[in-house]
Amino acid sequence: MNQSDLLGTTFDCECGRRHTVPTRHLFYSEDAFTHLVDTVRSVAGGNDCLVIADTRTWEVAGETVETTLRSGNIRVNRFIVPDVAGESPAADDKTRDLMLAEAPPADILIGVGSGVINDLVKWIAYLRKKPYLIVATAASMNGYASANVAATIDGLKVLFHAEACQAVFATPGMIVHAPYELSTSGLGDVLAKSVSSADWKLNQFLFDDYYCQFSVNLLKDLEPVYLENPTRIRERDPAAFEALFQALFYSSIAMTITGTSSPASGGEHLISHTLDMLALRDNGKHDYHGRQVGVSSILMAALYETVMALEHPVFKPFPETINKAFWGSLSPVIEPEYRKKQPKMAQATAYLSQPDNWARLKALLQPNLVAAQKLKNCLSQAGAGHRYQDIRDNRQPLERDKLLSVVRHANEMRERFTILDLAVMLGIIPGEIEALVDRWITH
Ligand SMILES: [Zn+2]
Ligand SMILES: [Zn+2]
Repeated sequence: MNQSDLLGTTFDCECGRRHTVPTRHLFYSEDAFTHLVDTVRSVAGGNDCLVIADTRTWEVAGETVETTLRSGNIRVNRFIVPDVAGESPAADDKTRDLMLAEAPPADILIGVGSGVINDLVKWIAYLRKKPYLIVATAASMNGYASANVAATIDGLKVLFHAEACQAVFATPGMIVHAPYELSTSGLGDVLAKSVSSADWKLNQFLFDDYYCQFSVNLLKDLEPVYLENPTRIRERDPAAFEALFQALFYSSIAMTITGTSSPASGGEHLISHTLDMLALRDNGKHDYHGRQVGVSSILMAALYETVMALEHPVFKPFPETINKAFWGSLSPVIEPEYRKKQPKMAQATAYLSQPDNWARLKALLQPNLVAAQKLKNCLSQAGAGHRYQDIRDNRQPLERDKLLSVVRHANEMRERFTILDLAVMLGIIPGEIEALVDRWITH
């Protein structure tokens, strides 16, 4: 079956659940915008439409979208999300309040942009209980068809459930020629799947958690295109970019139908979230999500290799509390998460201390792991961030000491169990982490 046959459908899955794909269309072609008018008519239940962009994406595509809709006799208003102090807007509560107060009412919202605009439009559409469409301007992240909003509220990074969009529109010309570091960030985000799906499977094995192989397999045919031929991304090969865009899109579908970010987010995302939270705490500026995630994914794959090489694991006592010196003023929000995690670490230690179970875990995970070297090659040959110094922290290369402390404590921030926890339980973190960082993400 073709993945696109799933769009807009409800089906019974082999995982035992019934999945619904709320997003009905992906138009990825040079004439994608010719489908805008019909889609608005079939979805909106009215004729008033609001186009939302920032100053950059308005220039890239917003104006064309508006003209196209007007020529189809759709009434169009626009809202340009303003820059803040010369910086592009953020998906935060301040911007939300501004939009709720000032964006004109409409039957349907159309977001023109990628990360932040996608989150903001999803958020406003949800609060106003209106459907929305997304005109994608870059293959930069996997949130286009997800129902989750990644936002900052009261200075804290949160992820909450809203609604997925009705359709995504993208023209190859625009996606291929988007600022290149946006595309390489998208590559970093989608590569996380190779380690995050192992983390997900690990949770099923240890805690009998829900897991859906079908959603993991959604990207199976697309992955080899960029994983085996990363130079095609660097050469702006249209077929490689289409595979990348589709992989990001179906990665968001996988999260939406399973109702969890687990298909696309594991330990590598905890490292990226930690970097984001520290930047917020310190009034600093973090880097692109996908760049942080891509570099971290190499390290997670290396951790998996180190863990899976053990014949007779020896579990060490894990810290009883979070490291308050590291988290500082964030400690009160982090602490409850780690408290929820501790029983899981204890349970996993007991379960995996039985030799049979350790062998079974290895047999289960090893066949599907992607080698750290392969992820490293893919990112470096595509010209994407693949060293910790490629991650920008306040516009400067991230420092080794900061990275190391983030890797040592990122597992404390969420209840979700990942390879980071297993590495802590086995003493690989902190014992071997410096050597792994030096070997895998320094050169
Ligand atoms: Zn399923
Ligand atoms: Zn991500």
